[in-house]
Amino acid sequence: MEINDDVILSFLKRRHYKQLQPLAALIDMDGTLYDSMGNHADAWHRLATELGITATREEFFMYEGRTGASTLNILFNRAYGRDATSEEIEQFYARKALYFTQMPSVKPMPGAMQMLDFFKEVNMRRVLVTGSGQRSLIDRLERDFPGAFTLDMMVTSRDVKCGKPHPEPFIKAMEMARVRPSQAIAIENAPLGVKSAFDAGAFTVAVTTGPIPREELVKAGAAIVFDSMPQCAEMLPQLVFKMFSLSIS
Ligand code: CA
Repeated sequence: MEINDDVILSFLKRRHYKQLQPLAALIDMDGTLYDSMGNHADAWHRLATELGITATREEFFMYEGRTGASTLNILFNRAYGRDATSEEIEQFYARKALYFTQMPSVKPMPGAMQMLDFFKEVNMRRVLVTGSGQRSLIDRLERDFPGAFTLDMMVTSRDVKCGKPHPEPFIKAMEMARVRPSQAIAIENAPLGVKSAFDAGAFTVAVTTGPIPREELVKAGAAIVFDSMPQCAEMLPQLVFKMFSLSIS
């Protein structure tokens, strides 16, 4: 597979950048590094059902990237016409997190390690950008991807006022990596995450790893969409090389 120059050039035009200089990779966790979205959807669906709120398992794939509070507010507004109180958020998000930990163990996404190894090899800074606040996964990162991230290079739900799709998480990640938007590449699997990264100004690579159709990712602002993480990992060297070498005058 050959990456078309136009992928880069049309992004430059759309963003009014002259050139890209990818120095940092801002990387989503659930559905990108971990095959965890099915478990999240199941845990949310179980909670909603227990609360007597009608919901489909599939809708939770579309909410992916939102903070727990934001997902609870969607459910509460549908059922009761109001936001959840902070006590309700604390209680129900804790219950959802508990259900998640009781589910079958989540596996690293095939290709994720290869992708992170590439970023390390070319000395790109890595920042984890996740809407999750679930320690169970964050704690596993060092075990599953040794040396890929340091603790001071992680944006979690605890570090932002506004979660994805708001650009704040990716803006914060750029600050941590000390890069400008034209120096950042974001890796995402969900429309809300793609929108957050695109609005922050990053060149956004989307990967379809679940039931979300690629058109949704393009609509959200993805510069390029890969069909799997192994494909993404394989194509990244070529993509990063082209990002460095193409420019518009
Ligand atoms: Ca995700």
